[in-house]
Amino acid sequence: MDHLMLLDLMDNGIMLLDKELEICFWNQWLEFHTNLSKNDAIGKKLPELFPEIIKKNLKRKVEVSLKLKTSTFMDASVSKYLIQIPLKKITSSMFNYMQQNVIIAPYGNENVIIVIYDYTPLLEAQELLKQQAEKFEIQATIDPLTQVYNRLKFNTILDLEVQRSKRYSRDLSIIIFDIDHFKKVNDTYGHLIGDEVLKGIALLVKNTVRTTDIFARWGGEEFIILLPETLLDRAVIVAERIRKTIEEYIFPEVGTKTCSFGVTIYHNDSNETYNQFINRADTHLYSAKNSGRNRVIFGY
Ligand code: GH3
Ligand code: MG
Ligand code: MG
Repeated sequence: MDHLMLLDLMDNGIMLLDKELEICFWNQWLEFHTNLSKNDAIGKKLPELFPEIIKKNLKRKVEVSLKLKTSTFMDASVSKYLIQIPLKKITSSMFNYMQQNVIIAPYGNENVIIVIYDYTPLLEAQELLKQQAEKFEIQATIDPLTQVYNRLKFNTILDLEVQRSKRYSRDLSIIIFDIDHFKKVNDTYGHLIGDEVLKGIALLVKNTVRTTDIFARWGGEEFIILLPETLLDRAVIVAERIRKTIEEYIFPEVGTKTCSFGVTIYHNDSNETYNQFINRADTHLYSAKNSGRNRVIFGY
């Protein structure tokens, strides 16, 4: 089998097996990666050296390949690997073992040739790209301080919900609220404590609204909640509940804080823009501020 020595030059694992899975050839790549020399491997049955192999399955694959004279393919993203090869890496990997694409092809009438491709770097790169994309998605949609949606994401959802409300005549309400005298918190306790209050309020509200409601930081110390399938009187009850929850909470160092609320419903029978919708809620919020704060003002 002298010509097989050429296969030593290849940058893949290459072996020959007979029907009984006995190894007849073992290339240099395999020697290097498995720490088993040709002498260690040739004459042994592959599953004896690699007990992780399901003997019955491999045997069937070999028989089918020989019988039909076709090659079979094992995909790394499905089957992970044929033989366990620990990764020789200095940098940490997300895998313990080399991920392998494997081809089993007939070699004459009695043998199969098995080619192992190291697919680990590609899978790692794919996974890294996926993680990066998820990270960018989070950065683009989540407010880093409060961990709720940012204004950009809110506007995207608002746009969709307004369209839906118009097209299918669905109820769509909105709550805007702003922390009362928040500047005083910063002035008295410092900006970091102010940040803690913002985080605390976001958390209180997150635990109060339904999962279908869209809660976002609208900017500074102002928040906004979009309530699909919700009539105005129901949204007012939600706002009132949030107002009370915040009022009763005692923030570390700062003590109690209150918020003012503006609530309205989308005019889905007219052609109003979502700016008009929000501005109406804003107007009610400012009425709440001007009439003494810590209250919910609403209007159609
Ligand atoms: P009002 O009851 O009228 O709303 O009074 P206010 O003091 O809350 O309103 P004002 O608009 O005067 O002040 C808002 C303050 O919110 C000023 C600003 O520094 C603070 N602020 C905005 N964003 C942040 C933030 O991310 N962290 C902190 N700590 N403060 C913020
Ligand atoms: Mg304020
Ligand atoms: Mg404000």
